[in-house]
Amino acid sequence: MRFKNLSQLKRPQPLEITLKSLPQHILMAEYAREKAFKINELVKLTFEESFEWYGFTLADQDHPELIIDIGLPQNDLNLQDYTALGSEKIAQFQESLTEELIINGWIHSHGALNYKHFSHTDEQNHLIVLDFVAPRTRKPLSKKEVAVQDLVLLEKDRFEKEDVAKGSVCLITDGPITEARIMETIYGSFCYSIVIGEGGRHEQEIHCRERGVLSGYTTSSSMAAQIEFVDTGRSLSQPDINALSDEVKKKIKPHTDPPPEMIERM
Ligand SMILES: [Zn+2]
Repeated sequence: MRFKNLSQLKRPQPLEITLKSLPQHILMAEYAREKAFKINELVKLTFEESFEWYGFTLADQDHPELIIDIGLPQNDLNLQDYTALGSEKIAQFQESLTEELIINGWIHSHGALNYKHFSHTDEQNHLIVLDFVAPRTRKPLSKKEVAVQDLVLLEKDRFEKEDVAKGSVCLITDGPITEARIMETIYGSFCYSIVIGEGGRHEQEIHCRERGVLSGYTTSSSMAAQIEFVDTGRSLSQPDINALSDEVKKKIKPHTDPPPEMIERM
C-alpha cells in the first residue's frame, strides 16, 4: 500500500461525545462555612490554643457538588500541625450518616500555624479521601471511541476458529456489517479539599479522577478552585452552637505529647 503523503499516516482523532462535566468550582452553603469557622473558634476557646482538626464536607446524594454541612469525626490526634486520615475512619464516619448524606471531601484547619497552604501530608490525605469518595460522586462524563487496531468483524454462527484468531479485538454481530466504532463510557469522580485558617482565610482544591470503563484508561488531576457560597436558608443558631461546642469537647482531643514516630512524620 502506498501513501500519497505523510498526513495520511495520522490516525483520525477518536470520536468523543461529552455528556456531563466535573465541577470547576466548589459550591458551599453559607451554613457550612459558618460551621467550619465556628469549630475553629470553639477549638481555640476550649483548649486555649488553636489545634489542627479535620472534618468532612457533606452533600445530599442527589446533589454531590454542593457542600451543605460539615461532619466532625472523632479526631484522635490533634497535634498543632499534623492531622492524619485513614480510609477506615472515613468509612466509619460515612456509616454514621443518614442515608441521603454523602461525604464529598474533607476540610481541616491549620490552627494558628503560619502555614497557609496544603502540606505534603495533606496531599496524601487528598488521595485517601478521593479513593473513598470517588464511587459516590461518580458520573458519566463522555462516550469516547476506543481506538482498536485490527478490529475484526464477525457474524454470529458464521465464523471459524481461524477467523477469531485474527486481529486484536473481535466484534460478533447478528448480521453482516463492514464498519464499527466502539465507544466506552468515561466516568469521572471528584472530591473537595478545603484548608481554613484564622481570620476567615481558606484555600481549596478539587481532585478529579477519570476512568474508561473498557480500556481502563485512568487520569487524575487536581486544581485550585474558587468557592461559590450559596444561601440555603439555614444558619447556625445558638442551640446549634451549644451542641457544636459539646461535640468539639468530645471529639477533638489535643495530643500535646506525641509519640516519637509522630514527631518524625511532622
Ligand atoms: Zn494541612
